[in-house]
Amino acid sequence: MKHTQSKLIRTQIPRTAEGEHASPMYLTSSFCFDNAEDMRAAFADETDVNIYSRFSNPNVQEFVDRLCILENAEAGFATATGMSAVFGSFMALLKKGDHLLSCDSVFGSTRTVVSKYLPKYGIDFSYISANATAAQWEAAITPQTKMIYLETPTNPGLEVIDIAMVSAIAKKHNIILNVDNCFATPIGQTPIDLGADLVIHSATKWIDGQGRVLGGAIVGRKDLIHEMYLFCRATGPSLSPFNAWVLSKSLETLEVRMERHCSNALFVAEKLEGHAKINFVKYPFLTSHPHYAIAKKQMKNGGGILCFEIKGGLEAGRHFLNHLKMLSLTANLGDTRSIASHPASTTHAKLSPAERDAVSISDGLIRISVGLEHKEDIVADILQALEA
Ligand SMILES: *Cc1c(COP(=O)(O)O)cnc(C)c1O
Repeated sequence: MKHTQSKLIRTQIPRTAEGEHASPMYLTSSFCFDNAEDMRAAFADETDVNIYSRFSNPNVQEFVDRLCILENAEAGFATATGMSAVFGSFMALLKKGDHLLSCDSVFGSTRTVVSKYLPKYGIDFSYISANATAAQWEAAITPQTKMIYLETPTNPGLEVIDIAMVSAIAKKHNIILNVDNCFATPIGQTPIDLGADLVIHSATKWIDGQGRVLGGAIVGRKDLIHEMYLFCRATGPSLSPFNAWVLSKSLETLEVRMERHCSNALFVAEKLEGHAKINFVKYPFLTSHPHYAIAKKQMKNGGGILCFEIKGGLEAGRHFLNHLKMLSLTANLGDTRSIASHPASTTHAKLSPAERDAVSISDGLIRISVGLEHKEDIVADILQALEA
């Protein structure tokens, strides 16, 4: 098979004697051994068999193998949530005295982990703007910098960071480059091909794509993933085999789903741009996006998320949400159903106005996760709520 999509679809758990077509579910906590010697050898890492589902499980491994195919990764480990992959990567690979350099607009919980919890373990951090130049990135590196953490496009501001530019700097200083690829998905961009060492996913979002289960994963360099495996095997944030079964099936349709999500999102973005009640629309593949050139260089599509700033600030934002008839108001994103959210009054309400400003979240900012409803219906609902 020549193509990624075929390899992904045709990679599955070996068929059992039942001859099942879809992969069976291995909902078991542990696996049996025929004798004491086999069990000893398994625990001594002399064999590669499943022992206990906190360490490994066939369904979890199938999900990981498929994600590795999509991301061109050597190895991977799946976790219970995206956040356990983020936290695990810091805990497994950083130690007291190390410094983490992170882009400043990162997912809210990631920001909490970086600024509130890492210092408790003696791990230092600093944030750098998504607009930083190569020289500013160079200047932000210290002799203690062990890892660079990127999210691109960022949530919810949709800023795009040049992965190849940052990876060249990371390589020069022998620093691990860790990229949260949740928004773009491997269909939109493959950071490892641009020089990243590790790629993190919240599988809860586009990978599941239907708002059913939580999950996460980290894929990348084999030596780093082994450290992550050892940390997670001991501490226990493993992915449930049931969720892995759901997520592995979802990967089979990720490409076709993302094609429609992205074409719908571009359509909605173009229809809203220039609207009298909107100051600006932000979408990586709109020519007006400040990082349009970088987005076009590193992304195959603009993703399924767009945002816009409604005139009238906080109250106008709340008014807009209250008048939507079809779009859902919910904390998730990356669903077949379109979702609207207002970060300033919800996910980012705890940040000060100055902090919100630094990460491009204004009071009137609305984030839309564009679903698979008909594109005209999505636009119509947004337009009627803007007019209401
Ligand atoms: C949701 C999200 C996460 C966290 O994932 P969970 O599965 O909710 O733990 C991390 N990064 C980004 C960009 C996200 O959107």
